[in-house]
Amino acid sequence: MQTSMNFIGGKWLGSATGKTFSDVNPANTDHVVAVLQDSGPEDVAQAVSAAQVAFPGWANTPAPRRGGYLLKAAHLIEQRADDLARLLTQEEGKTLPESKGEVMRAVRIFEYFGGEGARLTGETVPSERDGVFAMTVRQPLGVVALITPWNFPIAIPAWKLGPALVSGNTVVIKPASLAPMLTLKLAEALAEAGLPDGVLNVVTGSGRHVGMPLVSDPSVKAVSFTGSVAVGDEIYAATAKRKVRTQLEMGGKNPTIVLADADLALAAAVTANAAFMSAGEKCTATSRVIVERSVLKQFTSLIVEEARKIRVGDPMDPSTAMGPAVDAAQLKTDLDYIEIAKAEGARLLCGGNRLTGGIYDKGFYVEPTIFADVQPHMRIAQEEVFGPVLGIMAAEDFDDAIRIANDIRFGLSASLCTKDISRMLQYIHRIEAGTLMINLPSAGIEYQVPFGGMKASSTGFREQGSVACDFYTQIKTVYVKY
Ligand code: NDP
Repeated sequence: MQTSMNFIGGKWLGSATGKTFSDVNPANTDHVVAVLQDSGPEDVAQAVSAAQVAFPGWANTPAPRRGGYLLKAAHLIEQRADDLARLLTQEEGKTLPESKGEVMRAVRIFEYFGGEGARLTGETVPSERDGVFAMTVRQPLGVVALITPWNFPIAIPAWKLGPALVSGNTVVIKPASLAPMLTLKLAEALAEAGLPDGVLNVVTGSGRHVGMPLVSDPSVKAVSFTGSVAVGDEIYAATAKRKVRTQLEMGGKNPTIVLADADLALAAAVTANAAFMSAGEKCTATSRVIVERSVLKQFTSLIVEEARKIRVGDPMDPSTAMGPAVDAAQLKTDLDYIEIAKAEGARLLCGGNRLTGGIYDKGFYVEPTIFADVQPHMRIAQEEVFGPVLGIMAAEDFDDAIRIANDIRFGLSASLCTKDISRMLQYIHRIEAGTLMINLPSAGIEYQVPFGGMKASSTGFREQGSVACDFYTQIKTVYVKY
């Protein structure tokens, strides 16, 4: 069993605490995937200081050259994609094809932001005055802190690292303790690509002992966090004191609206994909399907059929469609919400149980679960479960569906199934979410367009696409009299 180190100032180091923790396979808890450094504030201080030392040199490296390191690393990651996908499946529990897709997404993200090095443009703007030239230039912020969740353990670190680094910042990143290995693998690839020492630093360990000291460090100039609302709120309270630029991408309770004119077989397939793939552990997963009453019965039988087709099992087995929950706590959350939904009066249509017997006894497997008769006020309709649990809600018409969809504090993603172009355009205008799909699963985003949420899901800065660099740069406006 290999013990993984922190990556600080270009060196692989044990933590000052001398403590470690285990990264356990959620499909088989006998399998310890890796042992990692259970770091503390001293390690954070060391990493921030290394990033500070590296900042002037990195900020003064021409941006296209900074992008070159990302391009080289992308190539190395692509060469290792199969091994990395296996590691991802072992520590997170998503199926092997899902993991391979995610690793390749990280490759594309690094390629994309590698190219952004040559496109970090400012503006030239006509001045009102004779002989005056007005323009803007972009500059990096300094040391930035990145904190990431376990559910996309290579894509999310990549989509923060790409724009942060190419924009000229130096970075300290703390990956989620349930799936930290892929962030270390990104660091390995960047180090092999020749990234100068201290430009990227990785510190593993708990939110309390690494995450909070990191976001509270006075030298950190910006924080980008993806994770739960509860932790996002805590981080925001800490960074607000220093007025530090803070990007929070958090939970969702995403709706799919199915209108009476929709292709119902397609709508059922789209909804099942969004609700159950990756065991529902996607911030963009559909957990509420809002269906026009005239097609409710027909849609319900189609979606239950889709859920029953899903084979739950070992995520390394090619015939498996859905793997386990990530850990015992997430499994308990899934099962608790199933009981809450029953107690609230929702009607269980399929699933609802932990799977047991054979390989299931060694992992955290739960059945794809669907409830009917879900009402907007119920907790199952309002709170993020982050598991394979879908609630069906009836709507009287399109307006009612939009009202129900928006009657929620979150606003991350949404989907609409219809053939009616006018309804599509009204939905684009009226739905309160940052990422909209039409006749597609609410999950399944691409790296070259902006991504993010509204309302309690986000602080509103967008990630991915070229606008991602807006968060990681500051603009200076220059007037020149000639
Ligand atoms: P958490 O909020 O529990 O953890 C996210 C990260 O924050 C982890 O690295 C965690 O460390 C760290 N952390 C925990 N406590 C603190 C603290 N007090 N101070 C600083 N850092 C802390 O989320 P999960 O990892 O459980 O991820 C699931 C959540 O992420 C869901 O709510 C999901 O919707 C959301 N998410 C949002 C996305 C989006 O783009 N909007 C995308 C993907 C997920 P540790 O692991 O050590 O506890």
